[in-house]
Amino acid sequence: MSIHCPGPASAAFEQDWRRFDREHLWHPYSSLTQPITAYPVSGASGSRIRLEDGRELIDGMASWWSAIHGYNHPALNAAVRDQLDAVAHVMFGGLTHRPAARLGATLIDITPEPLQYVFFADSGSVSVEVAIKMALQYWFAQGHSQRNKLLTIRAGYHGDTFGAMSVCDPVGGMHHLFTGVLPQHLFARMPDCRNDEEWRESQLAELRQHLDHASHEIAAVILEPIVQGAGGMRFYCPEFLRRARALCDAHDVLLIFDEIATGFGRTGELFAMHHADVVPDILCLGKALTGGYMTLAATLCNARVAEGISEHDPGVFMHGPTFMANPLACSVAQASLELLLESDWKTNIARIESALETGLSPCRELEQVRDVRVLGAIGVVELIHPVDMHTLPEAFVQRGVWVRPFRNLVYVMPPYIISDDELATLTGAMCEVVRECC
Ligand SMILES: *Cc1c(COP(=O)(O)O)cnc(C)c1O
Repeated sequence: MSIHCPGPASAAFEQDWRRFDREHLWHPYSSLTQPITAYPVSGASGSRIRLEDGRELIDGMASWWSAIHGYNHPALNAAVRDQLDAVAHVMFGGLTHRPAARLGATLIDITPEPLQYVFFADSGSVSVEVAIKMALQYWFAQGHSQRNKLLTIRAGYHGDTFGAMSVCDPVGGMHHLFTGVLPQHLFARMPDCRNDEEWRESQLAELRQHLDHASHEIAAVILEPIVQGAGGMRFYCPEFLRRARALCDAHDVLLIFDEIATGFGRTGELFAMHHADVVPDILCLGKALTGGYMTLAATLCNARVAEGISEHDPGVFMHGPTFMANPLACSVAQASLELLLESDWKTNIARIESALETGLSPCRELEQVRDVRVLGAIGVVELIHPVDMHTLPEAFVQRGVWVRPFRNLVYVMPPYIISDDELATLTGAMCEVVRECC
């Protein structure tokens, strides 16, 4: 090992581990030659993240939409511990276990009736790969293998693996980096309606055009319902989803909803599709599924898809990750769902929504702000110019909050247990940082 990289057990390493981190570990979307600061965390509980120097930060991110019950929750800790004493992991090929069956039953219970079949994947991106593969394999099984294109709207985000990337926004998703490797799919204009009163038929024109001209080669339409997350934190009206469902039906195209970010109450409904009362053929869930404890995702589908795949050549669905349905992850997911469903989550999300609305409204007056929008436990301040990622996180940390902006977006989706006082501090810090540092 080099002198920069002493053995992990040595005292020198313990002194200097952050240098090792900076010089050797990739962080999400990071540079190894011009890294941005990564703050060292020593612990976290409730809605607070503790840094090694003793500072405490109010968490505005719920670790990317996932830690909905906060950190170090006794019920979630117990679920992992109890399962750990039974079995941490066994292969899901040829073996099965109660944690997977219980969680599968719960997911079928809380999602719309037609979704009856569950594939447990190991991350959100993989659940999107699985959804795409289900759609393609379904059409292959029907003898329509020419139906191998996906149709989506711009400004979407569906994950970082190649299949998922191919349906991310072509510009924001950097498709030019992987030209010739990424499959070419079809993109329509994203809707810019905020609510049903603003509905104009023109919102649908490009989606309709693609389906009119090319439905014989389209396997599925894939959408993040109501909220487009990492593609730009955009909200759009439910009517678009109702129309998209009707168009898919008319053209016999499958509909995939990616609720990895929006699921489990985040938008004020248990699932964002409930805002529109629309049911997809395939549904992706992830992020908050385990309450932020472990990586786990799920792809649900209806009988049409499940039977279509299973009753025709090759007769099996061609996917099976090593850590499929990991028992620790399934157990903590079940405990997280029980916590959520036993709580008055709807009233609580409405509380957070109104605190975000009140707390962020001063930002509307600022000239550097283009838009302020709030839906459920999601608050977004969209700026005119991109933020400086080398200075802005520090401005938030100095104010005792954890907010991680991207592009021109300063946004929060806090854990559901955050208090009114903490929300006031969080939104106050956001307004102050936007006013003084952007
Ligand atoms: C985060 C996210 C994904 C990818 O999930 P990972 O667990 O990061 O692979 C896919 N779709 C949406 C909408 C997401 O927000």
